[in-house]
Amino acid sequence: MLKNYTNMGTQDRIARTILGAVLVYVGLFRPDMIGDHILNVLVAAFGVLNIISSLVKICPAYLLANISTARSSKVSTAVSGSETLLNEQVNLVEASSLRMKLLLSVFLPMFALLCVFCAIVFNLGHQHELSSITKKADVAAEFVADSIRLQSDDKYKADYQAFPDSTLSIVASGVEAVDVFFLHDSNANPIDSEIAKGMDNITVLNAMTALHRTRGDDIKNGARGMLMVGDKHYIWSTTFAGAEDRWFTSVIPAPSTHTISRQLFSPRFAVIILSVILLAVWSSAYIIKKFLDNMERSARQLQYRTYHDTLTGLPNRLSIESIIHQKTQSVDAQGGCVALLMMDVIGFREINDTLGYAIGDKLLVAISKHLNEIDANDGNVVMMGGDVFSVVCQTSHDRLTLSRLSNKIQDKLENSQYLEDYPVTIQVRIGMACYPGDASSPEELIRCSDIALAQAKSQRLKSYYYNTDLDTHSIRKLTLLSRLRTAIEQDELTLVYQPKVDIQKNTLEGVEVLVRWIDAEYGLVSPVEFVTWAEKSGLIDKLTHWVLKTAEKQSAQWQRQGICIPFAVNLSPTNLFDKELVPLVERLVGENGSFGNGLLELEITENAVMEDPERALDTMHQLGRLGVEFAIDDFGTGLSSFAYLRKFPVHNLKIDRAFILETDDSDKEAILLQSMITLGHQLGCVVTAEGVEDQPTLERLRDMKCNLVQGYHICRPLFGEKLLEWIERGNWTALPRAA
Ligand code: C2E
Ligand code: MG
Ligand code: MG
Repeated sequence: MLKNYTNMGTQDRIARTILGAVLVYVGLFRPDMIGDHILNVLVAAFGVLNIISSLVKICPAYLLANISTARSSKVSTAVSGSETLLNEQVNLVEASSLRMKLLLSVFLPMFALLCVFCAIVFNLGHQHELSSITKKADVAAEFVADSIRLQSDDKYKADYQAFPDSTLSIVASGVEAVDVFFLHDSNANPIDSEIAKGMDNITVLNAMTALHRTRGDDIKNGARGMLMVGDKHYIWSTTFAGAEDRWFTSVIPAPSTHTISRQLFSPRFAVIILSVILLAVWSSAYIIKKFLDNMERSARQLQYRTYHDTLTGLPNRLSIESIIHQKTQSVDAQGGCVALLMMDVIGFREINDTLGYAIGDKLLVAISKHLNEIDANDGNVVMMGGDVFSVVCQTSHDRLTLSRLSNKIQDKLENSQYLEDYPVTIQVRIGMACYPGDASSPEELIRCSDIALAQAKSQRLKSYYYNTDLDTHSIRKLTLLSRLRTAIEQDELTLVYQPKVDIQKNTLEGVEVLVRWIDAEYGLVSPVEFVTWAEKSGLIDKLTHWVLKTAEKQSAQWQRQGICIPFAVNLSPTNLFDKELVPLVERLVGENGSFGNGLLELEITENAVMEDPERALDTMHQLGRLGVEFAIDDFGTGLSSFAYLRKFPVHNLKIDRAFILETDDSDKEAILLQSMITLGHQLGCVVTAEGVEDQPTLERLRDMKCNLVQGYHICRPLFGEKLLEWIERGNWTALPRAA
């Protein structure tokens, strides 16, 4: 049990043992060194205490200050990088070495101050001692001189003689401390007197006489000084003793510095000093403890803030790894699994946008409360950031239990009351994964449930359980994403062209340019996939520039071969806000480009226009002035505003494939399709039908007065040279316009 309190290191213990032994030796075997019986015992006891404390490795003073000179063993923390960093800060506060340094930094100045204090006390004491002795010498000299004066002065003689005994007794008592005093003339020749004392102390007398002679005229009334005879110190004082050249000198032995020191540093004084030192140690230990406690508290507060979401008070993303780690440890020992359910609030952004961030915040707090109320097998609710929460819990490893839990969470959240003033209901999508079934580490578990949640979102499912296929998919996605930039920069992409034909006139009206990516590892990657990634990763402008330039080169080449047809290039919504688009198109349609004479058409989606109609319109007008025509792609699938559609310089309306395919409900669809075609015509547009896969559809479209068609039935998208062959075969008796 004592082991828990061990706080002394080896060097510390060795030093303490030696100190203890010395103290015991002095206290017990050299009592003369201290000279006080009680102090000897105390010193010896202190020595014994030191030896015992170094044997048991515990120092009581260290316990109070919570410090240790023992080498601390490394604390193993199973936490993530950032948490380790913060723990290190807290550990730093707890670190014994720091405490020790702080203790010394307070104690040493205190000790130094104490030493200065002692020096001052000693010096003052010394001064005081000397001045009191000097005063004695003065008094003695005055007494004796007065008595002599009284004797010699006739006026006082009678008085003096009347009280000779009492006067002499006073003089005698005043001069008790005096070693030598003698009457002398100004040449320091002793004059025999009845008051003379110590006249037999020849050494002192001679020294005094020699001193007076040397000083000569200096001898004045009140002259005094210090005299050293051998190793003895004396204080002398000379006073005038009457008109007849009589001087009187008193000499009092003075204690030497050594003696004064011994007097000052008496055992009692030593006890006081020791107590003061002890007090200094303990009080500095206490101050340090208070200081460090405060620091520790601040560090812990900082740690709390770092690992908790400020809004909901829930543990945040930084703490999830350690939470999972704790649970995985118990799962490793007892079996079962750790489930991570990651959930995203459907439409939270809209709530934020419509009701404001303050209400959004309130909603998140309310959701966190409801989540905490759910009995999820001692699960921990974690705020992952934004509107994503997660629940980490220990459970048996079967999907049924997990889906029950997920249903429970969904039921609770969907049927709860959230905001008093607003009737808000919420729904969540949940991605689930388990340790050790799906993941072998906390990070992997987080990643797996992240993937599962992404899948639930993309498939619009309420919950989705992770499976490894998803992972393969995400690895592929990550790899391809990282390669996309190089693929664009190093011309690894290629273009295919799909003809658009006029079904009323049987003419080839142009080609749509479609991008392809054949990756060395993953083969053909669909543009539906990588165009979206490019849009999200900011590479879309680069991609569109590449497509435009490459298509222009192809157009130039065909024109050199006598084929001059319009090219339709797809634009992504954000391309309309790209500042470099207009200058690039300007070059391509200019003298040195092959897209002049209205040979470039740009396909945009309805959504692209609707995002920021004013800016989109501005770009379209600029491009329009360059002779570029616009087609609305995938018409019918986006958010159209007919009011805007009327304003836009649109030349071509491309009806989405979904409206062309024949289904069971073909009557209604035929009406819809016909309406779209009519609408297109009324807006002054050429109408194109996408995705025509068979002859009946083509005939139907022809009857509906649709202008252009595009689809596998006419021709699949082909590489440049293949399409040239297709054109030259004249399947559609294509009559290319003359260059
Ligand atoms: P989109 O612009 O609507 O292009 C038409 C898509 O329909 C093409 O798919 C084409 O191969 C396909 N298609 C044509 N006829 C038929 C048919 O009869 N049946 C079926 N089932 N499909 C047909 P693709 O090439 O996979 O392109 C898909 C989408 O990727 C395009 O849709 C377009 O939105 C985008 N995309 C393609 N290339 C580019 C490009 O260079 N830039 C941008 N921004 N997007 C592009
Ligand atoms: Mg298109
Ligand atoms: Mg389309």
